[in-house]
Amino acid sequence: MIAALDIPTIRGRVQERAMLGPTSWFRVGGAAEFLIRPADEADLAALFRELAYEMPVTVIGAASNLIIRDGGVAGAVVKLARGFNEISVEPDGIVAGAAALDVTVAEHAAAASLSGLEFLSGIPGTIGGAVAMNAGAYGGDISQVLQWAEIVTRSGESMRLNIHDLGLSYRHSNLPPGAIVTRAKFSAVPGDARAIAARMAQIKASGEATQPVRARTGGSTFANPPDMKAWELIDAAGCRGLMRGRAQVSELHCNFLLNLGDASAADLEGLGEEVRARVQKASGVSLHWEIKRIGIPA
Ligand SMILES: Cc1cc2nc3c(=O)[nH]c(=O)nc-3n(C[C@H](O)[C@H](O)[C@H](O)COP(=O)(O)OP(=O)(O)OC[C@H]3O[C@@H](n4cnc5c(N)ncnc54)[C@H](O)[C@@H]3O)c2cc1C
Repeated sequence: MIAALDIPTIRGRVQERAMLGPTSWFRVGGAAEFLIRPADEADLAALFRELAYEMPVTVIGAASNLIIRDGGVAGAVVKLARGFNEISVEPDGIVAGAAALDVTVAEHAAAASLSGLEFLSGIPGTIGGAVAMNAGAYGGDISQVLQWAEIVTRSGESMRLNIHDLGLSYRHSNLPPGAIVTRAKFSAVPGDARAIAARMAQIKASGEATQPVRARTGGSTFANPPDMKAWELIDAAGCRGLMRGRAQVSELHCNFLLNLGDASAADLEGLGEEVRARVQKASGVSLHWEIKRIGIPA
């Protein structure tokens, strides 16, 4: 446990023992020892300059790709607040704060008749999470559209990285350890407003038909192994609908785990490990978690 006195004064909000579960997509997880919501980029940089280096720091976005463990998260959990929501339209793209939702960025691009960012409307996270995860859907991903991302390093330095500095690969970036993305610029090109709107409607309909988008879930649980689909391996291993406690492998899309109501993080993580073991046994393939698991078990 870290003394409250070790948290420097910031303009944003600091809460002790703040429950994280209610705001995560899975609705599971314990408390953050400290939940810190810096007001803006200067506030975040000042926080990092003053925060004891031994203090563990975890950043979360919309928590749409996270299992937060039942014992909570030690140290500081940083969640970017409203000061990181700004979106501006430029002739060749969109600049968005890291707390802006991907869908809102897609909507701003559409309203300005800019094409190329429609895929973001299918990803229910924030821009910070999208850059960190190189999120992608429907044939697009962040690596195809990102121009630059601004970050604050763990030592409190603000810098702009261009796409080549970020080493984006399948659902992965090489952000410096502990760095937080604060803003990013995405390329987009003038397009036909009706075609853009139609593409976004198609993405919405397809997501609703193929994914449990209204459930307590965390998106794709495992990364697709090269030239294979994780869901096919999971299905072939007989895991569709598999349950542990109140956690279930989705019947609709078996690379999604569901919290059926009052599952614990341990139920979800244990179910995921059981799926990995069954897939390994059935096919010899070792699946890797795409969902990030943070915190400590209860
Ligand atoms: C129904 C559903 C459908 C989904 N469909 C897709 C899909 O089609 N494609 C896809 O790629 N993903 C999909 N996901 C997963 C998820 O939405 C994405 O991974 C998303 O980019 C995560 O963003 P987030 O803000 O929620 O990040 P979080 O889940 O909060 O965090 C994910 C990771 O990003 C890091 N992170 C978050 N913010 C920052 C920041 N500002 N700076 C640095 N690191 C940061 C976190 O530390 C963590 O490691 C889906 C999820 C759900 C629930």
